[in-house]
Order: sequence, then C-alpha cells, then structure tokens
Amino acid sequence: MQISNGKTFLSFSEALSAGIAGTVPAFNWLVPLLDANGADEKALLTGADRLRAKTMGNSVHLRGLIEFSNFCRKNCHYCGLRAVNQKIKRYRLSETEILDTALKAEKLGYKTIVLQSGEDLHFSSDVMCGIIKELKNKTKLAVTLSLGERDETTYAAWKKAGADRYLLRIETTDPVIFKAIHPDSDLEYRKNCLYILKKLGYQLGSGVMVGLPGQTSLNLAGDIIWMYKLGVEMVGIGPFLPHKETPLREEKGGTLNQALRLVSVLRLVFPYAHIPATTAMGTIDPLGREKALEAGANVIMPNITPTGVRPLYEIYPNKICLDETADKCFGCVTARIIGLGRTVGTDYGHVKRNTK
Ligand code: SAH
Ligand code: SF4
Repeated sequence: MQISNGKTFLSFSEALSAGIAGTVPAFNWLVPLLDANGADEKALLTGADRLRAKTMGNSVHLRGLIEFSNFCRKNCHYCGLRAVNQKIKRYRLSETEILDTALKAEKLGYKTIVLQSGEDLHFSSDVMCGIIKELKNKTKLAVTLSLGERDETTYAAWKKAGADRYLLRIETTDPVIFKAIHPDSDLEYRKNCLYILKKLGYQLGSGVMVGLPGQTSLNLAGDIIWMYKLGVEMVGIGPFLPHKETPLREEKGGTLNQALRLVSVLRLVFPYAHIPATTAMGTIDPLGREKALEAGANVIMPNITPTGVRPLYEIYPNKICLDETADKCFGCVTARIIGLGRTVGTDYGHVKRNTK
C-alpha cells in the first residue's frame, strides 16, 4: 500500500516508521490506514502497540464504571436506554448507593470512578453537585462524569464541585448520519457541549461508534480530524452493536477489526491520549479488550455497578461481566492485564496535557 504524506508516496511501513505519528492528521493517510488489511493491518496494529509502549508505558489504568441511572430523556436510534423503550425496567441508584460503590472501588485500588447515566434530569445540577462533593470529601478518587448533554451553567457547577473529567462521545461528526440516528439531538449543540467542557478545564474525553449505518472510513477520518482540533485527551470508541428494541435492530453493526484499526490510528494521531479497550469490544469478541490493549489502548473501564441493576443498563445487547461482583471483576481484569505482560496503573492516570 502507498500512503501520501502530502509530498511523496511512502510504503505502508515507511509511513509508520517515518513518523506520521503525532503529525497533523490528514485524510490522505488516515483513510488508507483505516482501510488497511492483511500484512498492512498487522503492521498498523503492531506499530500502534509499540508507540503506546513508548509514550504511555506498560501500565493499564483502570477506571471503575458506575452506571447509576438508566432513565433517559432521549431517543437515540441505536441505544436500548432510549426513552420510548418500555421493555426495560428503569432504575436509579440512591446517593448512598453511589457513595458505597465508590468507597468499595477505592478500597479495591481504583483511583478513578466514572459516573455514567442516561440523560436523567432527576440528577439535576444541584443533586449531582451534592454527590460530587460527597465523593470528593470521603474519597481521594478522581471523578469522571458521563451524563450527556447539559448546559454551560450545569457543567461549570459540576466542575466547581470537584469533577475532574468528562466523557461525551460525539458519536459521528457527519451531519447526515448524526441527524439520521438522533431524533432529538443536534450535532452543533453536542459539539458546543464539548467546546464548553474544554473551556471549563475538564480533562476531556470524546469518541465515536464504528460501523454506524452509512458510515465510511472517510467519515471516521473526519471524526478524527475534528477531535484533533478539539484537543481531546481521552478517546473512547467501540463497535456499534444493534439492539432489538431500537429502530436500528436490522443493521449489521461494527466489527472488532474496524474498531481495532481505529484504536491504532487514534494512537498514531494522539500518541499521549488515554484510549480505553472498551466493553463493547469485549462483547463482540471474548478477547476483544486484550486485542485492543495490544493495538494501542492503555485503559480498561471495569463495570462496578451493583450487580442487581447491572443487566438493566442495556445500551446494547449481550454486555459482558453482568454478574461479576466488583472485586471479582477487579481480579479478572488484573489477571488479563498481567497475562499480556502489562501492569495495572497505580497512579491516577490523569491526562497528559499535550496529547498530540
Ligand atoms: N447518555 C450519555 C452516556 C451514556 S451512553 C450519552 O449518550 O452520552 C454511552 C455511550 O454508549 C454512547 O456515547 C454511545 O457511544 C454508546 N452506545 C449506545 N448505544 C450503543 C450501541 N447500540 N452500540 C454500541 N455503543 C452504544
Ligand atoms: Fe440516552 Fe445516551 Fe442512550 Fe442516547 S446514547 S438514548 S442519550 S443513554
């Protein structure tokens, strides 16, 4: 395969070793890398793994994920939590349950928890401020939020209350695809949420789904370029997995290899970013997360939601680790990491401010 760096055409391995890594991403090299197959694909994945070892080291950071509410006001066409889905039982964890889960996580050795939910306005600006302050008072944990789209005042209040990081995937930056799958979201509004979060000083994570209906490598390249300009510090991606209670039930969904190539390309573009091996990759293939960790990823987000409600947070079907208690999960993930010859991160794994 030949890749143009804007001046000359390079062979695939020349392009990797001649250091396109960390340079301003451009369509003419992103697209061929995203489409790589055979020996080229292997070279891409190995190259990204080597770069990860150099920039981020050997340790894998664990972030404990607490899915604290599956109520959602939105109707994203891909997601099982969409408001009109009456087939799922809805739940909210109480403030005490959230705090207890966090305390348990800290005892196990977690340094970060991620509070994620549907867009549930029960957790208002004030209610969340109370929870964040309590977590910050009672633990030394870094707190990441992933509660979807809110207004600037709310994001500012949560930051002031002590939140460290925010995850909001842009999902896709293609206006046509975005509109087709988000009946009640607006691409410009969502982009603006990310600009605001950045301005407020959150350590910022975004990302996309791979294999959305109509999505091409050109679209994914556009997503990468947009996230590069935004200056994301964490990038979470995963295959889109069709859910039967959604309008996209008949779609094909993404593949593990598409996701792995994207992880690798992201590592080249963002040598210093935190990139998780996501649960969706572990769902599509039992070794999906390990494969991602060997293709450029350096983070895992084990699910530490109380097991009683865990199956109810069904954004996509067949999610893994539904009945593993938090300590079993910690042990399992640690063993997998050690099995790869890596170590579990013992520091906070805060973002490296210049990820480019
Ligand atoms: N409500 C918040 C956070 C919860 S959803 C938000 O939407 O931002 C978290 C992520 O799950 C979404 O960003 C989306 O990328 C992913 N997701 C939802 N449905 C999915 C599906 N069917 N397959 C794969 N990922 C999905
Ligand atoms: Fe709600 Fe997020 Fe699912 Fe959309 S992706 S329906 S906002 S939980």
